[in-house]
Amino acid sequence: MTFDVEKNLSAALIGLEKIDMRNMPVPELGPFDVLVNVKVTGICGSDVHFFKHNRILHLEVTEPLVLGHESAGVVVAIGSQVTRVNVNDRVAIEPGVTCRTCEMCKSGQYNLCPHCKFAATPPTHGTLCNYYVHPEDFIFKLPDDISLEEGALVEPLSVGMYAVERANVKPGDVVLVLGAGPVGLLTCAAAKAAGAAQVIIADLIPSRLEFAKTYATDTQLLLDRPEKGEPNFEYARRTSTQIIQKLGQQADTVLDCTGAETCVQMAVLLTKSGGSAVLVGLGATTQTLPVVDITVRQVNVKGVFRYCNVSPVSIVRAYPRAISMLTKGNIDVKPLITHTYPIEKSQEALLHATNGSDGAIKIQVINDQ
Ligand SMILES: [Zn+2]
Ligand SMILES: [Zn+2]
Repeated sequence: MTFDVEKNLSAALIGLEKIDMRNMPVPELGPFDVLVNVKVTGICGSDVHFFKHNRILHLEVTEPLVLGHESAGVVVAIGSQVTRVNVNDRVAIEPGVTCRTCEMCKSGQYNLCPHCKFAATPPTHGTLCNYYVHPEDFIFKLPDDISLEEGALVEPLSVGMYAVERANVKPGDVVLVLGAGPVGLLTCAAAKAAGAAQVIIADLIPSRLEFAKTYATDTQLLLDRPEKGEPNFEYARRTSTQIIQKLGQQADTVLDCTGAETCVQMAVLLTKSGGSAVLVGLGATTQTLPVVDITVRQVNVKGVFRYCNVSPVSIVRAYPRAISMLTKGNIDVKPLITHTYPIEKSQEALLHATNGSDGAIKIQVINDQ
C-alpha cells in the first residue's frame, strides 16, 4: 500500500467552536507501533465539550489539539517488533494508552492508570486525522464482517458494556438508564445482552426517545424540565416520585449517562434498596447526593471510568469483548449512525453534534484519503 505521511490532514481545535484543517506531523513509528490510516471517527460528547468550551474540568486546550478518539482504520505500516497486526488489516483503535507497569495496570484496572495518555485529551492529539501512530497492544483487528463504521463504535460500546459489568446486571433485572445519547443507548443494549428483563430509558429530548423506541429499550420516559427556580433536589425528588408511580417500582440498577446533578440524584432515588446506582456520565466536580437514601437503603453508588478488563482477575479486555458482541449479533451498533461528514467538514460535523436536537445520535466523520 502506498501512503504519504506528509499528507496528514487533521482536525485541530484552535479556539472556541473553531476547527482548522491542517497538516500535522506524524510521530515516528517505534518498534511496537502501528501506523493506521484512520477511515472513520465518531464524534463523542467529550469532543463536543472541548469544541464548545476548550476545556473539560481541569483539562484545558491551550495549543491546537486534534480531536477524535472513536476510530477505526486500515494498517499501512508496522514497527519491526509488531506481531499482532499486519499491513492492510482493518482495525479499531483503543484510544487510551496506559503505562502497563503501575499497580492499576498490573491489576487489570488499567482505566485507572494515572499515566494514561488518551487521544484528544490535552496534550495528547486525537484520531480525527489521516494517519495515527499507536502501540499494537491498543490496536484490535476487526473481523471481515464488521465494518469500519461499526469498528469506530467499539469505543462507546466498551463504555456501555463496562458500565453494565460494574453494575452487575443479572438476568431478569429491571434496568433504568438516564440519558438517551449514544452511551445511554449502548448501555441499554449491553443491559439487554446481559439479560435484563426490562430496560427503561429516560431523557428530556423527545426525538431521542423516538429513536430509543426502535433501539434496545422496552419503556421510554420523557422527563419534564425543571420549573423556573426549582432547586435541583426538589426537581429530582418530584420527578423520581412520578417515575416510580408510573413504573410501579424502583429499578434494580440505574445507570446515569448524563453526569447532571439532578440525574445523579435521581439515579439514587430510583434505585431499589440494596440495588446499584452507577455513575457513567461526567458532570460537575462536586455535587449534592441524597446520602440518607444511600445509607439507610444501602444503595450502592459506583463510579465508572471508561473501560478495562472484565474484572481484575480476567485478562480479557474491553475491546475484544465488544467486538465479539458485534460479530455474534448480540448488539447491533449500526442503527446509531445517523449522520456522516467527510473529514474536510469536521467543523460542520462538530457544529451539528453541538447543536443537534434533530434526532442526531452518532455523527461519524469519514476519511476517504
Ligand atoms: Zn467517547
Ligand atoms: Zn499504569
